[in-house]
Amino acid sequence: MTPAGDLIRKYYPEGLHKTLANNLAADDLALRAVSLDQPEQGLPEEILNTTDVLIWWGHCAHAEVKDELVDKIQQRVLSGMGLIVLHSGHLSKIFRRLMGTACRLRWREIGEKERLWVVSPAHPIARNIPETFVIPHHEMYGEPFDIPQDGKLIFMSWFEGGNVFRSGVAFERDRGKIFYFSPGHETFPIFHDPIILQVIGNAIRWAAPTEMVVNRITPQPEAPEKIHSNNPLANLDTSTLH
Ligand code: ZN
Repeated sequence: MTPAGDLIRKYYPEGLHKTLANNLAADDLALRAVSLDQPEQGLPEEILNTTDVLIWWGHCAHAEVKDELVDKIQQRVLSGMGLIVLHSGHLSKIFRRLMGTACRLRWREIGEKERLWVVSPAHPIARNIPETFVIPHHEMYGEPFDIPQDGKLIFMSWFEGGNVFRSGVAFERDRGKIFYFSPGHETFPIFHDPIILQVIGNAIRWAAPTEMVVNRITPQPEAPEKIHSNNPLANLDTSTLH
């Protein structure tokens, strides 16, 4: 049998992250490829705080990502940074944190055919994508997929074995836009497929922040309408409660 690593190195000789950065290259995108084995797990503050859209692919090492880093990424997403989570990133700490659910799904790894359908053709992520397209061999990801129900469904998948899956779903969390896209198992050349790359490129442009709102504070002592009610606690010192 061929070791899986040989096949992965054939399709992604510089690593999946660098291949994606190379294949997504465009005049309007400044792409950086980082990985978990780099200092500060690839995302020191000077990189995270200058990133408009973070693309996340992870598989076996989700637990190694430090919780403090997940806190920082979450805050940056809530402030407006876009986040695109690919394939097995559904179990990453950051995706589960932002969803608030376990994000489990059914799976089967026998290289069956996957057919995807665009179900929201007017959405920017579906721009220039055919109504339906095929990944000849992929790992099956199937329902039930326990993500929250507030996502906008962009793509649905059918698998040769009969399973179906919500393979492209867009979310908003505070100021941040998030897109989950399930293609991308590492033993298939999926990140060389021009349609897949077009979807990810569309998602980057959709998720890019219009403005970042950092350290938002929310008191509003002056009401826009005049308040006529008597405040029964007017003489109460509440300063210790805030
Ligand atoms: Zn996989």
